[in-house]
Amino acid sequence: MSLDYKFEGWLGHDPSSAKGKMQWGFFEPKEWEETDVDIKISHCGICGTDLHNLRSGWGPTIYPCCVGHEIVGNAIRVGSKVEGIHIGDRVGVGAQCDSCCERDCEECSSGNENYCPRKWIGTYNAIHKNGGKSYGGYATYNRSPSRFVFKIPDAIESKHAAPMLCAGITTYAPLKRNNCGPGTKVGIIGFGGLGHFGLMWAKALGAEVTVISRKSDKKDDAFEMGATKFIATAEEENWAIRNAGSLNMIFSILSSSKLPYPEYLSLLCKDGTFIQFGVPEDGPLTIPAISLVMKRVKMTGSLIGSPSEIREMLQFAAENVIKPWVKELPMKDANQAIVDMTDGKARYRYVLVN
Ligand SMILES: [Zn+2]
Ligand SMILES: [Zn+2]
Repeated sequence: MSLDYKFEGWLGHDPSSAKGKMQWGFFEPKEWEETDVDIKISHCGICGTDLHNLRSGWGPTIYPCCVGHEIVGNAIRVGSKVEGIHIGDRVGVGAQCDSCCERDCEECSSGNENYCPRKWIGTYNAIHKNGGKSYGGYATYNRSPSRFVFKIPDAIESKHAAPMLCAGITTYAPLKRNNCGPGTKVGIIGFGGLGHFGLMWAKALGAEVTVISRKSDKKDDAFEMGATKFIATAEEENWAIRNAGSLNMIFSILSSSKLPYPEYLSLLCKDGTFIQFGVPEDGPLTIPAISLVMKRVKMTGSLIGSPSEIREMLQFAAENVIKPWVKELPMKDANQAIVDMTDGKARYRYVLVN
């Protein structure tokens, strides 16, 4: 087996890298273990988390940092202890590339690795159990532990599979966990990469979906994807009163603490569930207790999905022909792509292609 490939990618060296100042360079992947897979990257989606990390928005980033955690490519080296993946297989890696994986860890042993309280290893900007650093997918190659490497079903194109591995699973897992199905009325606040996946999954599960956005410029897209209703909060007077109590479940995807959360909560009916995905850098959410009390509303959060949920999602996507709206861009244009992503231009996910 030829091992003469080099790990190269777009590296952020300081917070200014988030403004389109990543630099191309070599990096040293974690030391090889026989449970690992090396992937020749063909596609990598651009996630909002990439920008938070490049600019140290959630705390100090370990620079140099190569972001990207919606990785698809071909396995080119497979450890002797890896099961179910072979050289040449089309595979993917999402936002998490390892956890403690100990038998006595309640979460890891019950298939909830994404909530492992002991060791949560991100696909980039994290330290592996063997001390090596993790590097993401704006790159030529990726090395990840096989427990978090997934075979991509033939029916799903790589450009569609890549964004499923973070944006897709982040919205799929909570819909399933909260028993979304026929009759469920789902509201989606923030109609971007995650939001448009949420809409497509919910629709495929038989739910009715209302998209809630500031303006109506994405209204036609939302209806084309299967939304039944669209609320433009900056354009419709009394939108909260007129739509009060109309939803069972709300996905809150925006990363700002300065949003009309009481009004959003008023859209829920009794026993409704408000699920927060976005993690604002600008402070805590302020929720009046009355918003929870009057209708026995539940407020919760959600973090990606587990390996078994990711496998289930890929199967579901293949069977239901789920196709996210993506725009492919050459890997060489990654800097421009993250600037355009920051400016909200993505309709609805950028995918870098090698
Ligand atoms: Zn992500
Ligand atoms: Zn664990």
